Amino acid sequence: MTHARTLPIRLVPHPGEAIDSWWEAMAHRLGANTGDVLSAMGLLPRNPSSPVSSGILGHLVTLLDEDQAARAAWSSGVTPAEVQAMTLAHYDRLAHMVDAERRRVAARHVWGRARGSRYCPACLADNGGRWKLRWRLGWSFACLDHHLLLVDTCPRCSRMPRHFPATTRHSLSPGRCHSPSEKDAPLARCGQPFEEVPALALAVQGPVIAAQKLIEEAISRGRTDFGVYQDYP
Ligand SMILES: [Zn+2]
Ligand SMILES: [Zn+2]
Repeated sequence: MTHARTLPIRLVPHPGEAIDSWWEAMAHRLGANTGDVLSAMGLLPRNPSSPVSSGILGHLVTLLDEDQAARAAWSSGVTPAEVQAMTLAHYDRLAHMVDAERRRVAARHVWGRARGSRYCPACLADNGGRWKLRWRLGWSFACLDHHLLLVDTCPRCSRMPRHFPATTRHSLSPGRCHSPSEKDAPLARCGQPFEEVPALALAVQGPVIAAQKLIEEAISRGRTDFGVYQDYP
């Protein structure tokens, strides 16, 4: 049985933020590690006997059951619906298929992206390193705010960011690469500031931005009626 306790601060999620970005920001604000925040939220056992596997974090980012969402909401002062909206289940059957039993995105269906996240360096620079949930979708390739092509690797370690490494036992800096470092120290992180990573600028009126806009509209409306879909939205 996992119990929740109220966190000493309230941190409002950013619009469209991913849940792992939110709990990491909370941990950073508290000077704690993510494992402490997740156990306070009732999402991890208080004193896990073994290291938390990366798979468990991946499950939490993908889907929370009602009890988990209720505990996390109670401890952090937001609503269960707001908590659920930060998980990939928010896009279930709209942009990908979530395998509820295995708590992961089905990678073989409709461009499902099972792991990792793309990112916009300019967004991370603007908002203090908070990650958008939709950057995890296979359908996201451009930032409509900054007209940049999203980046999908870290230039320092060449890894895909947020590939669910086990990062619960040490503090993390928002906006920096959390992938393991090449150094021998097991807890060392790569640390690349993502806001400094160059991204390809896209023409504001160009086809890439137009395509991304169309796709984001289709996903948020849950229907589409352009081109071949005209007669059968
Ligand atoms: Zn951006
Ligand atoms: Zn890195």
